[in-house]
Amino acid sequence: MSEEILINITPMETRVAVVENGVLQEVYIERTRRRGIVGNIYKGKVVRVLPGMQAAFVDIGLERAAFIHAADVVPANRPNGAEVESISSLLHEGQSLIVQVTKEPIGTKGARLTTHLSIPSRYLVYMPHTPHTGVSQRIEDEVERERLRNIVESVEPEGADKQGGFIIRTAAEGFGEEEILADTHFLYRLWGAVERRCKGAKNKSIIYEDLPLFMRTMRDFVRPEIEKIRIDSRENFTKLKEFVQEFVPSLENKVEYYPGERPIFDLYGVEDEIQKALGRKVQLKSGGYLVIDQTEAMTTIDVNTGAFVGHRNLEETIFKTNLEAATAIVRQLRLRNLGGIIILDFIDMEDPEHQRQVLRLLEKNLERDHAKTKLTGVTELGLVQMTRKRTRESLEQVMCEPCPTCEARGTLKTPETVCYEIFREILREERAYGSDTYLVLAAQPVVDRLLDEESASVADLELFINKTIKFQVETLYSQEQFDIVLL
Ligand SMILES: [Zn+2]
Repeated sequence: MSEEILINITPMETRVAVVENGVLQEVYIERTRRRGIVGNIYKGKVVRVLPGMQAAFVDIGLERAAFIHAADVVPANRPNGAEVESISSLLHEGQSLIVQVTKEPIGTKGARLTTHLSIPSRYLVYMPHTPHTGVSQRIEDEVERERLRNIVESVEPEGADKQGGFIIRTAAEGFGEEEILADTHFLYRLWGAVERRCKGAKNKSIIYEDLPLFMRTMRDFVRPEIEKIRIDSRENFTKLKEFVQEFVPSLENKVEYYPGERPIFDLYGVEDEIQKALGRKVQLKSGGYLVIDQTEAMTTIDVNTGAFVGHRNLEETIFKTNLEAATAIVRQLRLRNLGGIIILDFIDMEDPEHQRQVLRLLEKNLERDHAKTKLTGVTELGLVQMTRKRTRESLEQVMCEPCPTCEARGTLKTPETVCYEIFREILREERAYGSDTYLVLAAQPVVDRLLDEESASVADLELFINKTIKFQVETLYSQEQFDIVLL
C-alpha cells in the first residue's frame, strides 16, 4: 500500500488529500474563516443551568451557547465510579469555567463541552485533571502496552507537582523512551502555558487552539509507511518542515515543496473526485452502483446491480458487485466523512459463504479508516448496521448548503401539481375578491404546461368564472413559485 499526502493551501482554505495507491481516500478541508473548534479550550461563563437535563449552557463566545452535561464536569473530588452530582451543585449561573470542545456545533446544535481537558501530542494525550495512565486499545501486544506504560509512569515533570495523567496513543507503538519522554515534557510545558493564560483571561475567550490542519495531519495520522507529503505553499512548507523536525523526525525527508504548474489537486484527479463525492450515486466498475442518502438520523447506502444482468451467473454477478461495493463503501465513508449510524443494503445473496466474505472484506477495509468504526450487526432483512465516529462535519456539510429551490427535499413539485395549485388559488381569489382579469406569473415549465396540456382546463375555468386568465413567464421564479395578480 503506497500512501501519499497532498496539501493545498490558499489564504482562504487548507485542503489535505490522503491518496492510497493512486486513489483519493480522504479529504480534509479547513476554511480559514470557520476553522473547526474541537479540542479548543475556552474560558466560558455558565449562562443557564438545566436541572431536568443534568446539563448547562455555557457561553464561550460563539453564536450559540455550548452544552455541557453533569457527567462531563470535573467536581472538586469525585471518587471513581461515584454517582454524578446534580448539575446545580456543580455549576451555577454566572460562574467562570475552563472548558474544552468535544463536538463541533452542527446545524442548530451548539458545541458540546467537557471540563475533562486533554491536550494531544504525537504519541500521547495529556489529561491535567485525570491522574491515570491509559493505553490505546489498538495497541494489542501486552508486552508493548506494559513497556509504554512504564515509560510514561516514570516521568518526573520539571518543576511542577506531578499531576494529571496520559493516554498512550496508537502512534506510540514501537517508539523508544526518548521520543515518548520528549512528548511528555512538551505537554507539561504546553499545559503550564495554558494554565498561566487561564488566570489572566477574560470570560468567553479562547485559551488554547489546536494546530492548523496541515500540522494536525502530520501529528495525528501519518503512518510510517507514508511515501511522500507534498505541499504547494512555500511559506507553510517551511513551517511544516520545522514541525516535522521537532515532532516526527522520521518524516523529515518525505516532506516536499510542490511548485508544479498544474494545481496540486489535479494530481490523481483529486479535484474531480471531490466533486463526485458530493453526488448521490457512485458508479462501480462492475456496472453496479451505490446510492448514498444522508439524513439527520442516519446514512443509508444502497448497493445495486447494473441494468443488464444475465440469468446464468446471477449469484456470481451479485457476489462480485457486493465485493466491489464493500471496498467502494468504505472509501465513500472516509471520503465523505460520514458519521453516526450507517445502514448498508447489499444485494441479497443466497450463499452464506458469500455473505461472510463480503462482511469480512468490509471489516478489513474499515481497518484503514482513521475514524473509529463498529459493525453493530446484520438485521433480519440482511441490512448491515454500523457506526462511524462523528467529530467533524461531513464533506457535504463543509461544502454545501440545503437547496433553497426544493428546500432540501431533493425533489420539486411537478409543473402539473403547480398548475392545479394555480387553479385552486384562482377560485379562492375569485370567491374572495373577484376581478375582470387574472394574470398568472409562473416559471417557464408551468406556463408552458398551462398553455399546452392544461389549455382545456384553463378554458373550462375561464368559462366557469366568466373571466379572462393571462399568463406571464417569470424567469426568476423557481418551478414551485407563482403569483396571481388581479387586474
Ligand atoms: Zn433542490
